[in-house]
Amino acid sequence: MARRPAVRHRVIVLGRTKLAEQDVIVTMLTSEGEQLRAVAKGGRKPGSRLAARTELFVEADLLVSPGRGLGIITEGQIIDAHASARTDVERVAAASALCEVARLTCYEDMPDTFLHPVLSRALKACEQAVDRAHLDVAVAAYALKVLSHEGWRPVLNSCVACGEPSPTRLCVRAGGALCESCARDVEDALPVSQNLLAWLEALIGLTFDDLLAAPVDDQTAFELLDTAHRWAATHLDARLRAMEFLRGL
Ligand SMILES: [Zn+2]
Repeated sequence: MARRPAVRHRVIVLGRTKLAEQDVIVTMLTSEGEQLRAVAKGGRKPGSRLAARTELFVEADLLVSPGRGLGIITEGQIIDAHASARTDVERVAAASALCEVARLTCYEDMPDTFLHPVLSRALKACEQAVDRAHLDVAVAAYALKVLSHEGWRPVLNSCVACGEPSPTRLCVRAGGALCESCARDVEDALPVSQNLLAWLEALIGLTFDDLLAAPVDDQTAFELLDTAHRWAATHLDARLRAMEFLRGL
């Protein structure tokens, strides 16, 4: 029987799961926007070349040989280790939160070319953010951009229920902003400022370059991260532990 050839993949590492004493299952996002899982033998051995190439949020070119079940990563080359995002605990937490959302929004055999470039850019933003506020903005922007792309775009400039143009509340479960009268019977419709609504719209519409350059105060940035967290956790129906950790720092 002919052996299937090894395939080279350009990936971003999204997660690592212990398989055996020194082996690890690596979850990745390919440049085609598909989720790929493969085994890195010796991937847990400290100092091993494969361990460095399959670290969380590394971008790499990896050669994957077909295995009986999962493929086996046989060799690889680092494209971008995002080294500046590894310099302090807040940046690591932010990059980890991106990978957590990425893991939940990409699928095997369902390519989506939107996903790889936006994650790569968001990881770069975690390196470039000049302060904690912009780090929070970068994470919130990534989560809302990807969720919006996949069909959970919040309605922000009018009431999601009646279309009234000046909403004053936000309800994640309802899908966006609500006016006072529509919000009356909705338990978790929280008051929201026009500033926050405008910022949420900006997170979806503006580039990372523009967002990193925009002035933002700590309180607004925290509220953006908090809203993006609730939005992602609710619509992905998942507990986002890395995002929770970042919020708590
Ligand atoms: Zn309304």
